[in-house]
Amino acid sequence: MINRMGRVPEALKIDFLEKEVIHPKGHEVLLKIKASCICGSDLHIYRNRHPSVKLPVTIGHEFCGEVLETGDKVTGMQKGDRVVVEPVINCGTCESCRRGEYNFCENLTFTYREGHGAMADYFTGTEEHIFKLPPEISWEEGALAEPLSVALHACRRAQVGLGDKVLVIGAGPIGIMIAAVSKRMGAKEVVISDVREFRLTAALNLGATKSVCAGKEDLNKVISDLSSHKGFDIAFECVGSEATLKEAMELVKNNGLVIDVGIFEKTDITIDASLYVKKELRLKGAQGYCFDFPYALWLLGEMPFGQLITHRFKLEDLYEAMETAVNPMADAIKVCIFPSQSP
Ligand SMILES: [Zn+2]
Ligand SMILES: [Zn+2]
Repeated sequence: MINRMGRVPEALKIDFLEKEVIHPKGHEVLLKIKASCICGSDLHIYRNRHPSVKLPVTIGHEFCGEVLETGDKVTGMQKGDRVVVEPVINCGTCESCRRGEYNFCENLTFTYREGHGAMADYFTGTEEHIFKLPPEISWEEGALAEPLSVALHACRRAQVGLGDKVLVIGAGPIGIMIAAVSKRMGAKEVVISDVREFRLTAALNLGATKSVCAGKEDLNKVISDLSSHKGFDIAFECVGSEATLKEAMELVKNNGLVIDVGIFEKTDITIDASLYVKKELRLKGAQGYCFDFPYALWLLGEMPFGQLITHRFKLEDLYEAMETAVNPMADAIKVCIFPSQSP
């Protein structure tokens, strides 16, 4: 059995490694990949602008599949099970791992960075990071468990609560999911802003209560028009720029909370530090996930996140899929690859 595995050999190129699939050993599980989504970080890699990934590298870490074979020590799953993979590799022995904060593992890496990309026919992982996919969740929805875990991690760190007024700056897939989860967690108002209107529409369909098309509308003006507005309780910065972080700091109320989720390409920025004192601002970062997958799998069954998948391709058309995902004119939110079935 031959596995085709998509790889970025150099900027803006895609090729496939072909390797014989080996039988899983010990706690390993071999799966046939059923759906695999392109992530924003795959696009950074594709453009060779990812700060911590060097080319060539295999890609794909948002995926699910069907168990084909299990190693002799696997007890929790068997052939035919539908599963989703948390694509982290942590050591289990460093101080962070022992404390239960495996997201801070000193030796943290991701399966695709170690040559196990999921833009492929097959994947072998360890039982510890594999979860059963509930029957009501489709393959393509299952592939959203990973980005949804990122959004959930941010919302859980923010402790979004009943009646909160929430602002989300940036309507990429993570921003849209944060808006949806915030509403679900009890927020009264969820305002989301972005320059791309089709993404704002998707956010409104999933629970955002108001959208602001940045560039066309003035966020400050729209917000001051909202009834009884004294600022947001929580602002999620999901872009990663100086301007949007400033906006978040200005638009939260006194003692408001800013959660930074965006990846800053330019890290050296200038902010008005006096706001921390004057407004008693709180700022928290959120990255990745830690024990968030079970919540994501539950929520995927409750909320229609599948509508974020806008484009579908076969594995052999991975280049075309990447070109679609990077093209701002393609109106893509999530692009999904189907290795073993027609899209
Ligand atoms: Zn991702
Ligand atoms: Zn560790």
